[in-house]
Amino acid sequence: AVFFHQEFTMTIERTFSIIKPDAVAKNVVGEIQSRFEKAGLRIIASKMIRLTPEIAGKFYEVHKARPFYNDLCSYMSSGPVVVQVLEGDGAVLKNRDIMGATNPKDAAPGTIRADFAESIDANAVHGSDAPETAAQEIAFFFSGTELCDRP
Ligand code: UDP
Repeated sequence: AVFFHQEFTMTIERTFSIIKPDAVAKNVVGEIQSRFEKAGLRIIASKMIRLTPEIAGKFYEVHKARPFYNDLCSYMSSGPVVVQVLEGDGAVLKNRDIMGATNPKDAAPGTIRADFAESIDANAVHGSDAPETAAQEIAFFFSGTELCDRP
């Protein structure tokens, strides 16, 4: 038998995702989750919560020096969000691909941001940019017992 899996099997990863207030208000939570599922990502944890500006500020602390930081924190606490953990082959990059570019004007057709985002600030989704940040972001919102082992 010939085994290809050394070259072609990707790593099972976990990534952290937020469906932002604009997408929740548009009532497209299910459509966005469906895109994750169709891409082969499994939702292993999910909850709808309302962030306080303080929690949003902590979560986005890396952007503290950026000019958009205050607006971003008030925006992210302006309405409920869905925080979730996605698992699958190459989940971090796969999720970034499905999301599309930060500015929906630059997002490729068929991506979540191209289809559902309003603007660079109200841009429908957040997704971790690397496995290391994914681990930190998951731990910020979920305890270990909230992450489900699932088929
Ligand atoms: N953002 C903004 N104005 C900007 C750049 C970013 O409001 O000029 C917001 C936007 O909501 C973005 C978030 O800050 O999703 C984090 O920015 P980042 O560059 O990390 O983009 P992302 O990783 O979300 O694509």
